[in-house]
Amino acid sequence: METITLIVPCYNEQESINLFYQTVEKVFAKLNATTTKYEADYLFVNDGSSDKTEQILQELHQQHSATVHYISFSRNFGKEAAIAAGFRNAGGDYVALMDVDLQDPPELLSQMLEIINTGEYDCVGCVQTSRKQNPIRAFLSSSFYKVIDKLSDVKIKQNVRDYRLMTRRYVDAVNQLTEYNRFSKGIFSWVGFQTKYIEYPGQPRAAGESHWSLWQLINYSIEGIIDFSDAPLRIATIIGGISCVLAVIGIIFVIVRAICFGGAVAGWPSLVSIILLIGGIQLFCLGILGQYIGKIYLETKHRPQYLIKEQQ
Ligand code: UDP
Ligand code: MG
Repeated sequence: METITLIVPCYNEQESINLFYQTVEKVFAKLNATTTKYEADYLFVNDGSSDKTEQILQELHQQHSATVHYISFSRNFGKEAAIAAGFRNAGGDYVALMDVDLQDPPELLSQMLEIINTGEYDCVGCVQTSRKQNPIRAFLSSSFYKVIDKLSDVKIKQNVRDYRLMTRRYVDAVNQLTEYNRFSKGIFSWVGFQTKYIEYPGQPRAAGESHWSLWQLINYSIEGIIDFSDAPLRIATIIGGISCVLAVIGIIFVIVRAICFGGAVAGWPSLVSIILLIGGIQLFCLGILGQYIGKIYLETKHRPQYLIKEQQ
């Protein structure tokens, strides 16, 4: 008998949890129809929900105390923290990470298990093929993957979901990365091992609504770039260097013109725009520096990524 720990982050998901549980149970019943091989071990992470999520998890744990466990955070720490908590507390022979809203179809688990059982792969990830998104989001998302592909040392597959099935040694490897600023998609790529991606068409949410605003997605993308690359710092240096050279050339030009033709009062607008341009570039570069310093600041505080209120 092999245990599969299912890490399931939940934030205000009262409508989805029971539906999720029933669907996964059906999948496992089907998996074990011929031989009883796999046991599901649920590990829900309640990320500081303000609705009835915690109560529903308590009830589910009381009904199935052997297989359903949960961790409750003291407040909302974000999905990345919930994933980190799940990884550290997952004890199964295999570990799957999935959303509770059924956008990660549990039916795919049997296919993923087949692939991992070949022994060639330590991780099976999922890539969404078609997803109904508004055009701005779709554009931002594809630009993000292009930028991170160019800038970063790690490679992240476009439209890859967090949904994945992993072997024990892969999970142990991920747990060795203890950074405070976590970007899972980058971490999964960074740890290496053989990963196989399977594709499936995007699913609508089973219940409730998405918790990501456009602004959060932009922040998440910046996090991804800053955490796995120092290229923005190099770009800032290059931009700063080029603007310095341009400024020197400009000054020489102004001096030579003043000597040859006398002072030019007419040039004020262009002068002001050049000053604004250079000032803007400096602020931009300072901003990039600030992003990194902010991250270093958070890392050096050694704060925990999450605080557990209750664990069952
Ligand atoms: N989630 C979480 N903490 C948060 C936001 C989301 O644990 O602060 C969970 C949420 O309950 C769900 C998963 O992360 O199981 C994915 O969230 P969502 O469905 O809102 O994202 P989307 O599928 O739209 O990318
Ligand atoms: Mg979702």
